[in-house]
Amino acid sequence: MDDIKEITEKIKKFRDDRDWLQFHDPKNMAVSIMLEASELLEHFQWKTKAEAEEYIKNNCESVQEEIADIAMYLFELADNLGVDLLDAMDKKLKKNEEKYPVGKAKGSHKKYNQL
Ligand SMILES: [Mg+2]
Repeated sequence: MDDIKEITEKIKKFRDDRDWLQFHDPKNMAVSIMLEASELLEHFQWKTKAEAEEYIKNNCESVQEEIADIAMYLFELADNLGVDLLDAMDKKLKKNEEKYPVGKAKGSHKKYNQL
């Protein structure tokens, strides 16, 4: 059993012990991912890059918790939709490699259609 499957089973047990599957439809899961991403973003609001780096050093645990919240909703959503997350990421990474060839994209933040 790989690590993603193992943690997804723990997430589902937590959910099912509380009878929360009834609330976890795809829209609610997508909303929850965005809300948790916003909680992560709030840690960095108004901070410069240097201030954010210093903040992370002093608030590592709470930043880590928001990242975990995002990942847990994401892993559960993928499972609910029958998406093999590792396979989906592998396929998308290959697409991104085609969209952003090193020769054109290295050192650039331009979108693929502007390279
Ligand atoms: Mg949170």
